[in-house]
Amino acid sequence: MSLGIGAKARFDAIREVNTRTPRKFDPPRDEQGKRMRVSDFFGVNIFDLQKMKEKLPKEVYTKLVSTVEAGKKLDKDIANTVAHAIKEWALARGVTHFCHWFQPQTGATAEKHDAFITFDDYGRTIEKFSGSQLIQSEPDASSFPSGGMRTTFEARGYTAWDPSSPVFIVENANGKTLCIPSVFISYHGDALDEKSGLLRSMEVLSRKACELLALLGENDAKHVVATLGVEQEYFLIDRAFYSLRPDLVMTGRSLIGGQPPKGQQLEDHYFGSIPSRVLAFMTEAEYELYKLGVPAKTRHNEVAPSQFETAPIFEEANIATDHNQVTMEVLRKVAARHNYAVLLHEKPFSGINGSGKHNNWSLMVASRDKEKDGDNLLDPGKTPHQNLRFLLVLMAVLKGVHRHGGLLRAGIASAGNDHRLGANEAPPAILSVFLGDLLNRILDELERGTGIQQGPEAAVLELGVSKLPEVMRDNADRNRTSPFAFTGNKFEFRAVGSSASTAFPVTLVNAAVADGLSSIIEELKARLKTAKTPEVAILEVIREAIRETRDVRFEGNNYSDDWRKEAERRGLPNLRKTPEALAELISERSRTLLSGLGIFTEAELVSRFHVRTERYVKNLLIEVDTLKSMVDTQVLPACFSYHGMLAGAVGAGKAIGVGTPQLETLSRVSELISSLQSRRASIDALMRKVDAASGEEEKAKLLSREVAQAMEEVRAYCDELEAVVADDYWPMPKYREMLFLA
Ligand code: ADP
Ligand code: MG
Repeated sequence: MSLGIGAKARFDAIREVNTRTPRKFDPPRDEQGKRMRVSDFFGVNIFDLQKMKEKLPKEVYTKLVSTVEAGKKLDKDIANTVAHAIKEWALARGVTHFCHWFQPQTGATAEKHDAFITFDDYGRTIEKFSGSQLIQSEPDASSFPSGGMRTTFEARGYTAWDPSSPVFIVENANGKTLCIPSVFISYHGDALDEKSGLLRSMEVLSRKACELLALLGENDAKHVVATLGVEQEYFLIDRAFYSLRPDLVMTGRSLIGGQPPKGQQLEDHYFGSIPSRVLAFMTEAEYELYKLGVPAKTRHNEVAPSQFETAPIFEEANIATDHNQVTMEVLRKVAARHNYAVLLHEKPFSGINGSGKHNNWSLMVASRDKEKDGDNLLDPGKTPHQNLRFLLVLMAVLKGVHRHGGLLRAGIASAGNDHRLGANEAPPAILSVFLGDLLNRILDELERGTGIQQGPEAAVLELGVSKLPEVMRDNADRNRTSPFAFTGNKFEFRAVGSSASTAFPVTLVNAAVADGLSSIIEELKARLKTAKTPEVAILEVIREAIRETRDVRFEGNNYSDDWRKEAERRGLPNLRKTPEALAELISERSRTLLSGLGIFTEAELVSRFHVRTERYVKNLLIEVDTLKSMVDTQVLPACFSYHGMLAGAVGAGKAIGVGTPQLETLSRVSELISSLQSRRASIDALMRKVDAASGEEEKAKLLSREVAQAMEEVRAYCDELEAVVADDYWPMPKYREMLFLA
């Protein structure tokens, strides 16, 4: 049999992958050439408050700290001094350029570099970096999505340093750039980016939480911060394979590809020993992260073959969000050095697990009282008072998720995540909360009212509220299927997609919980007027909230069909696809919530709706075009070659009067080719309908249903053909190769 030349590149790639060895890199060393400890070089590439303290005059430093603590913009009168200190630090480290680093609504980060050099009055080149360059910059940003927020005549928004996030240096092979974490706003102050909303939501949440604490007699809280620890899942695929897959390159996921005989059913990959080449990659990536002050903490294999995870120590949500963006970028860059492509897509391969980004979220008190400083409000404490505080905050979260489940779903909606949510292996599109056995029992008892009238001591005794701290250690009690799970002293929002920025989902969680807190505060104020003791008032509020939020609690298997039906009975929204989910962004309830709290104006919300709808449509159009071109230029030609070879053999066999055993395969291939061709044609017909559709929303709907369905059918025939066509004719690396060889 002649070698199908189509497979040559694929076979070369396999050979190349088999010769790879782990890449060595030179870890940071001290002046004597000795390897440094991580704690010795951690954060060398950031200019944080600690370093500022050394370099700045005391009064400037004090002012800067209060700016950061109040979440405000930097004052003009200290900007020059701060900028000078930053410049000296950066120049000493060999930095030549600076940029405002911001997060437009593309899910990625953006930067435009400027050199420090300028001409002085005598025409000599000098390095200059002024206060105004630090505080503000005007990128020519008219091409960033704004969802209609900027009309073309005022297309230029501006970026402004967010002083709560330290500036950092990004190294490339030949130089260094100073990055200034910034927000991106229009001249009217509209948020054009992902970060502004997050900062606003953190401020609102802090205000509400402090109000609740004050009601409970805790007046020394300075503020309450949302904390975030982001578990990042990803796939690693060898670049030799990756570059032969137009679908991975163009869309981040495989649009075709037959199932290998072995997937993840043996569960031998999960927490298995990390392959040495991968470990070499992880180690180098972590060094890069440490230099940037990202506290990468855990690393392990995930469930699917070639799937991995990294997670940092949690930080304040705005910093954690920046750090997650940095992490994704570092993973990409370092992977390339190791001849890997990192896939952050939510569902790169069908039939095995997709990737998520688990958002571990909690509330931490910054208090003037040393005892209480750093208290986690979702940590059930030792005293009845702390336990009651915990229960109130818990109820605020439940209220938030119960009322705004649809909005939270909208916050994680994307073309990629649609393949994950609702597929039988990831959190479903229905937002419910898992609390665990013990906490559930306590809430059930409280709802029945046991002990409430006798006050907290009785409740503590009778209900086992005193057992609450055990919840913390209750790690065995996990439900991996829940999209929003309480895990001891924090919630874990697991439905967020692996490629998404955490800014928007966390903004919405903050908003929902702020709303829950408002409602708790209002009820508590009312009950405090009539109840016998404050404790009784608190217990009554908790009990009422338990009743109200019962429907959002679910402990069972979130993947089951029964839950889908049960959720429908409970009236919980099940928004399967992005277009339905995004509609929640502009619902009456969401508008009232977000504009009421001052997090997004109605115009900002509508623009977010448009930006996301547009992005969804673009992503799907790219997928359709990629699939068509793969079918036309790779799959069909391979099938024709094989078909031609078989037909030739059959003809030859007949001519000399011998048997023609190829006939059966030939007719099978023939049939599959015609079926594929007719499905391929149906995509063209559908796309004419999409082209004719009026408006992006209409397009989005068509793409999410009919076109997505047609793409699945095309894929099914491609995958069947992959299983029939001789291996040496097949041009694209197969699942078994991409997932098991590298
Ligand atoms: P898991 O068992 O889910 O892997 P871990 O203890 O490893 O739990 O934590 C996962 C993530 O949750 C880590 O990033 C961790 O820093 C973060 N985390 C822990 N406590 C908090 C908290 N109070 N607030 C936010 N994130 C937290
Ligand atoms: Mg976890």
